[in-house]
Amino acid sequence: MLNETNLLWLLLPVAALSGWWIGQRVGKSKNNQSSSSIYPEYFKGLNFVLNEQPDKAIEVFIRMLEVDSETVETHLALGNLFRRRGEVDRAIRIHQNLIARPTLDRDQRAHALLELGMDYMRLGLLDRAEGLFLELIESDLHLNQAYTELLEIYQQEKDWENAINIARKLELISGKKLNPVIAQFYCERAELALLEGNMRVVKENIRRAISFYPNCVRASLIEAQMYQRTGKDKLAIKSYKRIESQDSDYITEIIGPLFECYRKLDRVDEFVEYLRMLVNIYGGISSLLRLTELIAEREGENAAIRFISDELKNRPTVKGVDRLIEYTLSKSEGETHEHLKTIKDLTAQLIEGRSMYKCSICGFDAKQLHWSCPGCKSWDTVKPVFGVAGE
Ligand SMILES: [Zn+2]
Repeated sequence: MLNETNLLWLLLPVAALSGWWIGQRVGKSKNNQSSSSIYPEYFKGLNFVLNEQPDKAIEVFIRMLEVDSETVETHLALGNLFRRRGEVDRAIRIHQNLIARPTLDRDQRAHALLELGMDYMRLGLLDRAEGLFLELIESDLHLNQAYTELLEIYQQEKDWENAINIARKLELISGKKLNPVIAQFYCERAELALLEGNMRVVKENIRRAISFYPNCVRASLIEAQMYQRTGKDKLAIKSYKRIESQDSDYITEIIGPLFECYRKLDRVDEFVEYLRMLVNIYGGISSLLRLTELIAEREGENAAIRFISDELKNRPTVKGVDRLIEYTLSKSEGETHEHLKTIKDLTAQLIEGRSMYKCSICGFDAKQLHWSCPGCKSWDTVKPVFGVAGE
């Protein structure tokens, strides 16, 4: 089968030979001696290939492959192949060799710069890569790719200010909708400020996040946390509740903290009403379980059992069944009790092993909420899992 490695081994000698041939053709018109000095080199290289000495073969072939306008594309293709094979040092040598040639035209040089920048990215040499991409932007070439790579660099460096600037420029030239991502960058800054206790900066960044993307759930969550930490529970409730209209998938995230706020304000009745509304409209298991707990507390366990078993008929979920068994266990005895315990162990195991969050882009399973997917680095794509085994 012709894989990438085989392709490289086919391409190298052919490229070298064609470079030699061009050299010979040009040479013939000027100097008949040149061909005889290159020709043995080709066989030397081929010999290394046959003897499976790739390092030496590559050196020889690259030496043969003189850089001129007709072979630049071959050099670029070779460099690209080396990088993809993980041989980044070789790719860098090829690209640096290209850039050093004064004969390269503007486009060719820009292409080589771009490739060298990608080599540095691959090695994690972000500063060097950044310099090259900025140079490309200055010369107004390969803008889309240069901005995209720069955006990647600033995110890796957590340089949110530059990330915001670059994302806005990329949005302009590419037409890509980056507003939700820019809002996430502001949220990163807001979260840092919250850790430092600088509420003025938190507010400023939340305001900007929401102005870029009004449905930014994370901004509402950070705002709510800020209010909650400073004892402003009424305002915190307002911010948490905003999430329902922004993206109801995230309701799971607000149930616990909302309960704390209402309890502190001694307004749990209101919270119960809110939960009933959430269960009726969205049916999430987090709301259902919290409501069941409150019913058990206020009206007794029998009322809780009746409520949850009715709800489970409409929306069966493992977590719901697990809770129903838990309540029923205390009321059973003898053999029934033992059977129920066995089932409870099973449901507990099912819940325990489950990832409650999943990335909609790459399928990454997570036990907690991530704003940037640990698998594919996409923003805002890891969400609570719904269905029988999830929410
Ligand atoms: Zn992902």
